[in-house]
Amino acid sequence: MNGLLVQARSPRTYWSFEKSLPFIGKAATMPPLGLATLAAHLPEQWDLRLRDLNVSPLDEADLRWADAVLVSGMLVQAPSMREVLRRARAMGRRTVAGGAGPTTAPELFEEADHLFRGEAEGRLELLVRVLEGREPSAPRLLSAEDGVRPDLALARVPRFDLLDLPRYANQALQYSRGCPFHCEFCDIIEMFGRVPRVKSPEQVVAELDALFARGARGALFFVDDNFVGNRREVARLLPILHAWQARHGFPFQLCTEASLDLAGAPALVEAMVGAGFEEVFLGIETPSAAALAETGKGQNLRMPAARAVETLTRAGLEVFAGFIVGFDAEGPDIFDRQLELINGLPIPRAMAGLLVALPGTRLWRRLEAEGRLRGHGAGDNFERPNFEPAMDERRLLSGYRRLAAALYEPAAYYARCALAVDQLPLRPQPAAGPGRATLAALVRVAWGLGIRSPRRARFWRLVGHALRRGAAALPRALALAVVGESLIEYTSEVLLPRLDRTLAALDGPAAGVPLAFNPARAPPAPPRRARGSGLPHGAG
Ligand code: SF4
Repeated sequence: MNGLLVQARSPRTYWSFEKSLPFIGKAATMPPLGLATLAAHLPEQWDLRLRDLNVSPLDEADLRWADAVLVSGMLVQAPSMREVLRRARAMGRRTVAGGAGPTTAPELFEEADHLFRGEAEGRLELLVRVLEGREPSAPRLLSAEDGVRPDLALARVPRFDLLDLPRYANQALQYSRGCPFHCEFCDIIEMFGRVPRVKSPEQVVAELDALFARGARGALFFVDDNFVGNRREVARLLPILHAWQARHGFPFQLCTEASLDLAGAPALVEAMVGAGFEEVFLGIETPSAAALAETGKGQNLRMPAARAVETLTRAGLEVFAGFIVGFDAEGPDIFDRQLELINGLPIPRAMAGLLVALPGTRLWRRLEAEGRLRGHGAGDNFERPNFEPAMDERRLLSGYRRLAAALYEPAAYYARCALAVDQLPLRPQPAAGPGRATLAALVRVAWGLGIRSPRRARFWRLVGHALRRGAAALPRALALAVVGESLIEYTSEVLLPRLDRTLAALDGPAAGVPLAFNPARAPPAPPRRARGSGLPHGAG
């Protein structure tokens, strides 16, 4: 049995960092951990190939080789998934679509022979039987709709051997699934539940060992929905993680996603920093208390966001964060309030987007009941809302456009970088000095940002600012400047023109119908247990 696992291509977004990756000689931000995990649970006698279209295009030869093609992706990757499915089908290959997109919105993947919804561990028996031709009925849906969420004790070490690890800017490891909170817009809790399930420390160590043995070093993202969702368990993990890092000379700089209430748990923060965590993504969402209450994000009301961010930053966790506009409770002043909040924070990477009703969420169900749902959105947060917003839509979109433009105006971005450089504690630098790869990256950064970039004056001012603090502040400043190239250019080259087109269309014949919504394909409401897309804004 030859199984071809294909990770769909992501469109250019705030999360793809396309302009930054060449500086560090990488092809993509993160490996497809879901497929590597799936691979570990497929029969050992199968021959597997894993192809990530974010790294290289799909060869005809791979499709010819395959008996079955299993394609994975989120909703935002649906066009790429469907293209792969069409190609595979045209060559007579049996196809399966899985991952967050088909789990949430199976009706969007008509090209697939089969669908697999939900998690893999202990749930692959039917899929294997069907693909091996041992199941005469061969149903289209290969996963049981029983709502069972597997115990992560069943999770095997992902098949990292199938991945070209050096091509990724971050390595990835998943410790937990699920989150105890109940934000109305979040599909993660629909997908993974509100009782966080965790791997044992021994399982985590086995994955670290496997990554380390394959030569992985540097940034490692714990891709949990909320790393601190199960405080008791994570407190048990962190000393073991710290000991592993210390034994291996701290080879990994760790990053994860967490809820804002982490800031109120200083012992946990200290343990995370001790174990090597350097960055954390938070879902701050909005400065409006009424909107937070509306969306059920009470955990963000326990401490003002600004205080929480400063607490975490000064403790050594650089914060990057998601912000949303478009809640019912927000008035037209929300754009200025967001701007004032964000530009006062040491958060250069502030991802602001429009509220989207993701399939299967409480928000989707409420809007549907209120007759406000328009259908599926484009899969990201930069399009007309897929529901009738409370605010006048033109006002919402033009206010959001103004917010996005102001956040990624170079002066604002670099000012937030300077704040982060000021507040983050200085970390001891490796005694061995930079290696060859780092030196090569430094040359590329000096040339690309310090000489060729139209923002070179700001870049050198940030470098000077960091050096006045100390040489140890420089690596963070350089990293933020590199990341800024993607964020600033994505905003001006892609996001703002797209919003302009959307605004223009509001006045055109298509007014009243969202651009990404085809009424002929309006989906039925997903069942209550439909699982989500894992879109970045839903986390933490
Ligand atoms: S948005 Fe974040 S905090 Fe809220 S339920 Fe989802 S994962 Fe948890």
